[in-house]
Amino acid sequence: MPDAARSYERSRAVMDRARGVLPGGVNSPARAYRAVGGDPVVIASGAGAILTDVDGNEYIDYLGSFGPLILGSAHPDVVAAVQAAAAAGTSFGAPTEAETELAELVVRALPSVEMVRFVNSGTEATMSALRLARAATGRDLIVKFDGCYHGHADGLLASAGSGVATLGLPDSPGVPAAFAAQTIVVPFNDADAVAATFRAHPGIAAVLVEPVAGNMGVVPPAPGFLEALRDLCDEHGALLVFDEVMTGFRVAWDGAQGRYNVRPDLTALGKVVGGGLPVGAYGGPRALLERMAPAGDVYQAGTLSGNPLATAAGLATLRALRADEGAFDRLESLASRLEAGLRQAADQAGATVAIGRVGSMLTLFFRDEAPRDYAEAASSDTARFARFHRALLDRGVMLPPSQFEAWFVSLAHDEALIDRTVEAVGEALEASAA
Ligand SMILES: *Cc1c(COP(=O)(O)O)cnc(C)c1O
Repeated sequence: MPDAARSYERSRAVMDRARGVLPGGVNSPARAYRAVGGDPVVIASGAGAILTDVDGNEYIDYLGSFGPLILGSAHPDVVAAVQAAAAAGTSFGAPTEAETELAELVVRALPSVEMVRFVNSGTEATMSALRLARAATGRDLIVKFDGCYHGHADGLLASAGSGVATLGLPDSPGVPAAFAAQTIVVPFNDADAVAATFRAHPGIAAVLVEPVAGNMGVVPPAPGFLEALRDLCDEHGALLVFDEVMTGFRVAWDGAQGRYNVRPDLTALGKVVGGGLPVGAYGGPRALLERMAPAGDVYQAGTLSGNPLATAAGLATLRALRADEGAFDRLESLASRLEAGLRQAADQAGATVAIGRVGSMLTLFFRDEAPRDYAEAASSDTARFARFHRALLDRGVMLPPSQFEAWFVSLAHDEALIDRTVEAVGEALEASAA
């Protein structure tokens, strides 16, 4: 049953104030509850897999800061590393040894990456990787997939057109049509559409893909899809860019490229690699990365890139992950327990759902089959998701506030928390039925 003691009074008051000075009351639109209705709950603190809001309500956390929190909130190693780094100076504008240590860890983890450049967000990582891809190929056009999100850089806010390949139209006012027109959008999991696009357009610099789509809800790559992209890029002299901002150090230590054994030319990272602080990165072979200034002629820079605070959080997170040999097996087993529990709860409630899951990324879709692309994902019952989301909040479970986001299981979750979640989901499915 919903916890009768729950009040959201202080959250509401904070959001009222926030809307006076922050557009929509938030600093990133995905945090607002536009897709599910009502006000966001305002978080006061997190510990492990538990969040506490400003009214004192607790939640089992599946939002995970939209991906970074693979160790949960406030992991002791990360807290200690960040405290030590803060006490020693947060930024110098000069190199530090820790940047090299983090780079060495990333290079050792990902066989396709020989060199890496750190930036401050996933947006910067993909944007910069594409600049490098364009410089390296001398071509301008980018192929992306409908429903894949790569950050908010101008040319990537184009996802219009599903079903057939279309030249990108901007998704947002303020994006020049000429920029969006450099992006060609094709359906995810449709290698034939990519082949046709290569035949129609000689000037394709790169194919950019989330190797596991996580921003239309979790949609795994169809068997052979990533391999086909690899072959098409090789055949046409284009670069394959994996946006592993969500999947890197999440679906395996060596990311989706390790899990599916397909090597991209360039990889964008973010989220887990920063351990909850603002970090992004892009990497690839030495010959490509040495095109970047000051080694080469392609310009990209950042005042706070690789700063000691963010680097310390990333290092502590990756070291804790690597030191824990069973980490990815445990994530797999916790998430598969959650998946099985969700299926059983849906059966009992007579609810029509499908689940997309890869490792510790999972989405419960209100539709009858797991989607293979954005058009299918978009046909989910989003009104039902909105009711379900609210019913779960009232029962102490924090999901991302959209049907089209991934839930994240962390190493701070345990079987007891998963089982409590499943019980709450069963009730929330009943409560949200009509
Ligand atoms: C989150 C995300 C981004 C953007 O990263 P930010 O740090 O929010 O700029 C890019 N690509 C993918 C796949 C993401 O999930």
